Amino acid sequence: MTGKHKSKEIQAAIAYALDRGWRLERARGRGHAWGTLYCPLTDRGGCRFTVWGTPAIPEAHARDLRRTVDRCEHG
Ligand SMILES: [Zn+2]
Repeated sequence: MTGKHKSKEIQAAIAYALDRGWRLERARGRGHAWGTLYCPLTDRGGCRFTVWGTPAIPEAHARDLRRTVDRCEHG
């Protein structure tokens, strides 16, 4: 894992996901995606969450990430 997200709410949610076995893959290039989180099930049926670099409402984006992690049953 490299680098931290500039939103502390989102960074905390990323740490929450990593604590539960999720894997972070940082985005390459200049798109809007900051990175993608993958749940412990690493095949096509696994969950994923795209982390945006500059979401309109960071708190809401962080909440969506936590909700996605909580919904995952692959951990
Ligand atoms: Zn999952």
